[in-house]
Amino acid sequence: MEKEPVRVCVTGAAGQIAYSLLLRIARGDMFGADQPVVLHLLDLDFMMESLNGVVMELDDCALPLLVEAVATSDVAVAFKDIDVAILVGAFPRKEGMERADLLKRNVSIFKSAGEALSAHAKKTVKVLVVGNPANTNCLICQRSASGIPAENFTCLTRLDQNRAQVQIAKRCDVNAQNVSNVIIWGNHSSTQFPDVRFTQVQVGETSHQATDLIKDDIWLKGDFIKTVQTRGAAVIKARKLSSAMSAAQAIVDHIRDWTCGTSGDSWTSMGIVSDGSYGVPAGLIYSMPVRISPGGAYQIVQNLEINDFAREMMDNTAKELLEERELALQFLA
Ligand code: NDP
Repeated sequence: MEKEPVRVCVTGAAGQIAYSLLLRIARGDMFGADQPVVLHLLDLDFMMESLNGVVMELDDCALPLLVEAVATSDVAVAFKDIDVAILVGAFPRKEGMERADLLKRNVSIFKSAGEALSAHAKKTVKVLVVGNPANTNCLICQRSASGIPAENFTCLTRLDQNRAQVQIAKRCDVNAQNVSNVIIWGNHSSTQFPDVRFTQVQVGETSHQATDLIKDDIWLKGDFIKTVQTRGAAVIKARKLSSAMSAAQAIVDHIRDWTCGTSGDSWTSMGIVSDGSYGVPAGLIYSMPVRISPGGAYQIVQNLEINDFAREMMDNTAKELLEERELALQFLA
């Protein structure tokens, strides 16, 4: 018998990232080749014409798994009974704009999203925030969504993890799939800490510590981290457009792992509500390594050694998030 469709809402659905993402969801890359989906596509009123064009294109793909794609600017329709919310739409940073102004605009968007999720979505809805500043937008959304468990709110740091994984793979001359257990700690910003102290690299039949294979602490603590932290800006400089294709891939990876689980002993990084593990202030949305069971329950990977270098990097990104939270909460009041 055919499975019940999964209802997935994507906000900012007429935007760049969504344009790379929607086909991936509708053809089964996110939930599997036997899982029908209904797409709830939300954007602002003035984007409806463009969004209707996206729906025409989805129709014209003649996809067997796509039951329906609903385009709307009404949150009550967009969030009705959804299983998964992918919140991409956010107010973009404009030239000359103060950080506080950007945060204020986004607090308003993500407060409304949280309230609407609470009113219309399933209480089990899994929420992924992509729109920047993603961690703090996620925090505002989570705090505004009464009745939905805090652990159902996550933000995207998977693109950072994928970027780090690829840098290590290239350095070791292996495929990216042979690199596991990279960690992204903290904020999805240039203060993030890509940590490869526990990363494994499979070469032939043998698994090695990445640090043993690379044997270059100066690169690992310097250019490697800088490259990952500034990769988004490098793509913008080269393409004159942001990294929408790789962001869409990371969104697919994040939700697929959150739904299907991580394999074996491996882990992945997600921005989640901190429970105080590793000295990260409780309540912050902070990227951490997690193991995920099929169905979506996740546990923070515990007992990883935190040396002085890691501590400083982790505290630095937490400090930035604490400052963002303080400012955002003033606007929430
Ligand atoms: P994109 O689809 O390119 O980006 C959307 C958001 O994702 C931005 O906040 C962007 O941050 C963030 N983002 C996170 N990771 C990445 C990455 N690797 N590369 C690029 N962006 C990343 O923006 P568009 O302007 O094309 O589309 C946004 C859409 O959202 C528009 O259609 C707009 O109308 C809509 N919107 C919808 C809202 C709603 O439905 N409630 C509210 C506000 C806007 P950054 O800005 O830092 O690049």
